[in-house]
Amino acid sequence: MSITVVTLRRPASDSSYVRATLKGMALTFKHIFQRKWTMQYPEETSAPDWTISPRYRGTHRMAVDEHGKAKCVACGLCPQVCPANCIKLIPGEDEQGNRYPLVYEIDEFRCVFCGYCQEVCPEEAIHVGVHYENAEYSRDRFVYDLERLMRQPHAPSSLWDPTDPKGE
Ligand code: SF4
Ligand code: SF4
Repeated sequence: MSITVVTLRRPASDSSYVRATLKGMALTFKHIFQRKWTMQYPEETSAPDWTISPRYRGTHRMAVDEHGKAKCVACGLCPQVCPANCIKLIPGEDEQGNRYPLVYEIDEFRCVFCGYCQEVCPEEAIHVGVHYENAEYSRDRFVYDLERLMRQPHAPSSLWDPTDPKGE
């Protein structure tokens, strides 16, 4: 592989920068009369053109069945696959032998929002969600327990679809 040396010619010391300055000012002036793309967040999040991709992976939510119970059957796959080790599951079993989560927690602060938990879940119970406004004042508030995960109202992520890689 050959190496090419490019020599840059610096402007002469007596060059005038007036033309370049005027061109820059003209460009700035032109934008005064064009549509402004800056959005005043959070006041304008409900603007018509404010959208988040349905594939966005954010705050989790736990799906519930028709009786309002968590769909999770405590199979243990999601804590097994989680690369951040941020899912805590303690399984329980009822009199009929049905498994359910006695404790199910996700530390959203440690989560890397990979979406593996959603992909691996056989019950389509746990989802990453189309939601990101989850700021808190203390670290412990980022640990979402089962009740809190079940209360999340936002849409579940559609994740990345290999048949539609650009999401069109
Ligand atoms: S999105 Fe990834 S890192 Fe976060 S809880 Fe699920 S598996 Fe773990
Ligand atoms: S993979 Fe689904 S069913 Fe299994 S423990 Fe996780 S949330 Fe529950």
